Amino acid sequence: MIAIFPGSFDPPTIGHISLIQRADEIFDEVVIAAATSDTCMFELDVRIGMLEACCHNMANVTVTRLEGLLADCAKTHNADVIIRGLRSAHDVSYEHSMAATNRIIGQNIETLILPALPEYSHISSSLAKDILCNNGDVSAFLPKEVIEKLG
Ligand code: ADP
Repeated sequence: MIAIFPGSFDPPTIGHISLIQRADEIFDEVVIAAATSDTCMFELDVRIGMLEACCHNMANVTVTRLEGLLADCAKTHNADVIIRGLRSAHDVSYEHSMAATNRIIGQNIETLILPALPEYSHISSSLAKDILCNNGDVSAFLPKEVIEKLG
Protein backbone atom coordinates (compact mmCIF):
# COMPACT_ATOMS: atom_id res chain seq x y z
CA MET A 1 0.00 0.00 0.00
CA ILE A 2 1.06 3.56 -0.71
CA ALA A 3 0.72 6.34 1.87
CA ILE A 4 0.92 10.08 1.25
CA PHE A 5 2.09 12.36 4.06
CA PRO A 6 1.15 15.99 3.40
CA GLY A 7 2.42 18.98 5.34
CA SER A 8 4.17 22.30 5.30
CA PHE A 9 7.44 20.97 6.74
CA ASP A 10 8.58 24.56 7.33
CA PRO A 11 11.12 23.25 8.28
CA PRO A 12 10.99 19.44 8.71
CA THR A 13 11.44 18.55 12.39
CA ILE A 14 12.60 15.49 14.31
CA GLY A 15 8.88 14.86 14.95
CA HIS A 16 8.07 14.78 11.20
CA ILE A 17 10.97 12.42 10.46
CA SER A 18 9.96 10.09 13.29
CA LEU A 19 6.48 9.89 11.75
CA ILE A 20 7.92 9.20 8.29
CA GLN A 21 10.10 6.37 9.67
CA ARG A 22 7.07 4.82 11.36
CA ALA A 23 4.97 5.10 8.19
CA ASP A 24 7.85 3.58 6.21
CA GLU A 25 7.62 0.49 8.41
CA ILE A 26 3.89 0.12 7.78
CA PHE A 27 3.55 0.92 4.07
CA ASP A 28 5.26 -0.29 0.88
CA GLU A 29 5.79 3.30 -0.26
CA VAL A 30 5.53 6.68 1.42
CA VAL A 31 5.15 9.87 -0.62
CA ILE A 32 5.88 13.06 1.32
CA ALA A 33 3.92 15.94 -0.18
CA ALA A 34 5.36 19.34 0.74
CA ALA A 35 2.81 22.10 0.33
CA THR A 36 3.30 25.24 -1.71
CA SER A 37 2.65 28.24 0.51
CA ASP A 38 3.21 31.99 0.48
CA THR A 39 3.53 32.10 4.24
CA CYS A 40 6.39 29.64 4.72
CA MET A 41 9.78 30.82 6.00
CA PHE A 42 11.58 28.36 3.71
CA GLU A 43 11.09 28.14 -0.07
CA LEU A 44 9.42 24.96 -1.29
CA ASP A 45 12.59 23.76 -3.05
CA VAL A 46 14.58 24.23 0.17
CA ARG A 47 12.00 22.30 2.21
CA ILE A 48 12.01 19.50 -0.39
CA GLY A 49 15.84 19.38 -0.30
CA MET A 50 15.73 19.15 3.51
CA LEU A 51 13.19 16.31 3.39
CA GLU A 52 15.20 14.43 0.76
CA ALA A 53 18.37 14.77 2.83
CA CYS A 54 16.58 13.47 5.94
CA CYS A 55 15.11 10.49 4.06
CA HIS A 56 18.11 9.57 1.91
CA ASN A 57 18.43 6.18 3.62
CA MET A 58 14.72 5.31 3.29
CA ALA A 59 14.51 3.59 -0.10
CA ASN A 60 10.72 3.58 -0.31
CA VAL A 61 10.20 7.22 0.64
CA THR A 62 9.93 9.95 -2.02
CA VAL A 63 9.23 13.67 -1.81
CA THR A 64 6.89 15.60 -4.10
CA ARG A 65 5.38 19.06 -4.40
CA LEU A 66 1.81 19.44 -3.17
CA GLU A 67 0.07 21.80 -5.57
CA GLY A 68 -3.70 21.98 -5.63
CA LEU A 69 -5.91 19.60 -3.70
CA LEU A 70 -4.37 16.86 -1.58
CA ALA A 71 -7.10 14.51 -2.85
CA ASP A 72 -5.87 15.06 -6.43
CA CYS A 73 -2.21 14.67 -5.44
CA ALA A 74 -3.08 11.40 -3.64
CA LYS A 75 -4.80 10.13 -6.79
CA THR A 76 -1.84 11.10 -9.00
CA HIS A 77 0.48 9.07 -6.76
CA ASN A 78 -1.96 6.14 -6.41
CA ALA A 79 -1.96 6.68 -2.65
CA ASP A 80 -4.33 4.48 -0.65
CA VAL A 81 -4.03 6.33 2.64
CA ILE A 82 -3.24 9.81 3.95
CA ILE A 83 -0.91 9.94 6.97
CA ARG A 84 -1.15 12.69 9.56
CA GLY A 85 0.29 13.11 13.03
CA LEU A 86 -1.35 14.00 16.33
CA ARG A 87 0.72 15.82 18.91
CA SER A 88 -1.94 16.70 21.46
CA ALA A 89 -5.66 17.25 21.93
CA HIS A 90 -5.12 20.62 20.28
CA ASP A 91 -4.61 18.89 16.89
CA VAL A 92 -7.72 16.69 17.10
CA SER A 93 -10.50 18.86 15.68
CA TYR A 94 -8.37 20.16 12.79
CA GLU A 95 -7.19 16.67 11.81
CA HIS A 96 -10.73 15.33 12.16
CA SER A 97 -12.12 17.99 9.77
CA MET A 98 -9.28 17.43 7.31
CA ALA A 99 -9.84 13.66 7.33
CA ALA A 100 -13.59 14.06 6.80
CA THR A 101 -13.07 16.59 3.99
CA ASN A 102 -10.50 14.48 2.19
CA ARG A 103 -12.74 11.44 2.46
CA ILE A 104 -15.58 13.36 0.78
CA ILE A 105 -13.55 14.89 -2.04
CA GLY A 106 -11.00 12.09 -2.30
CA GLN A 107 -13.25 9.17 -3.25
CA ASN A 108 -13.36 7.72 0.27
CA ILE A 109 -9.60 7.91 0.85
CA GLU A 110 -8.85 7.09 4.49
CA THR A 111 -6.63 9.12 6.81
CA LEU A 112 -4.43 7.26 9.26
CA ILE A 113 -3.56 9.46 12.23
CA LEU A 114 -0.45 8.38 14.11
CA PRO A 115 0.03 9.73 17.63
CA ALA A 116 3.36 11.47 18.13
CA LEU A 117 5.88 9.58 20.23
CA PRO A 118 5.75 11.14 23.72
CA GLU A 119 9.35 12.34 23.47
CA TYR A 120 8.50 14.33 20.30
CA SER A 121 4.97 15.52 21.04
CA HIS A 122 6.14 19.04 22.00
CA ILE A 123 8.05 19.54 18.73
CA SER A 124 6.60 21.78 16.03
CA SER A 125 8.00 23.72 13.08
CA SER A 126 6.66 26.96 14.51
CA LEU A 127 8.51 26.52 17.82
CA ALA A 128 11.69 25.60 15.93
CA LYS A 129 11.32 28.79 13.85
CA ASP A 130 10.88 30.89 17.00
CA ILE A 131 14.11 29.44 18.40
CA LEU A 132 15.91 29.90 15.06
CA CYS A 133 14.82 33.54 14.74
CA ASN A 134 16.25 34.23 18.18
CA ASN A 135 19.54 32.45 17.50
CA GLY A 136 18.79 29.61 19.89
CA ASP A 137 19.93 25.98 19.76
CA VAL A 138 17.56 23.93 17.60
CA SER A 139 19.48 20.66 17.79
CA ALA A 140 16.77 19.00 19.92
CA PHE A 141 14.09 20.02 17.38
CA LEU A 142 15.58 19.70 13.90
CA PRO A 143 17.39 16.77 12.25
CA LYS A 144 21.09 17.35 11.59
CA GLU A 145 20.43 17.23 7.81
CA VAL A 146 18.11 20.23 8.21
CA ILE A 147 20.52 22.14 10.45
CA GLU A 148 23.28 21.62 7.87
CA LYS A 149 21.09 23.31 5.25
CA LEU A 150 20.33 26.35 7.38
CA GLY A 151 23.63 27.92 6.32
P1 ADP B 1 0.42 21.41 8.28
O1 ADP B 1 0.60 22.86 8.01
O2 ADP B 1 -0.21 20.63 7.16
O3 ADP B 1 -0.19 21.06 9.61
P2 ADP B 1 2.96 20.56 9.40
O4 ADP B 1 4.26 20.48 8.68
O5 ADP B 1 2.86 21.50 10.55
O6 ADP B 1 1.92 20.85 8.26
O7 ADP B 1 2.54 19.13 9.94
C1 ADP B 1 2.37 18.04 9.06
C2 ADP B 1 1.88 16.85 9.87
O8 ADP B 1 2.90 16.43 10.75
C3 ADP B 1 0.65 17.15 10.74
O9 ADP B 1 -0.24 16.05 10.69
C4 ADP B 1 1.22 17.29 12.11
O10 ADP B 1 0.28 16.91 13.11
C5 ADP B 1 2.37 16.29 12.05
N1 ADP B 1 3.40 16.62 13.03
C6 ADP B 1 4.01 17.81 13.20
N2 ADP B 1 4.88 17.76 14.22
C7 ADP B 1 4.84 16.48 14.69
C8 ADP B 1 5.49 15.78 15.76
N3 ADP B 1 6.33 16.39 16.59
N4 ADP B 1 5.19 14.46 15.95
C9 ADP B 1 4.29 13.86 15.15
N5 ADP B 1 3.61 14.47 14.13
C10 ADP B 1 3.88 15.75 13.91
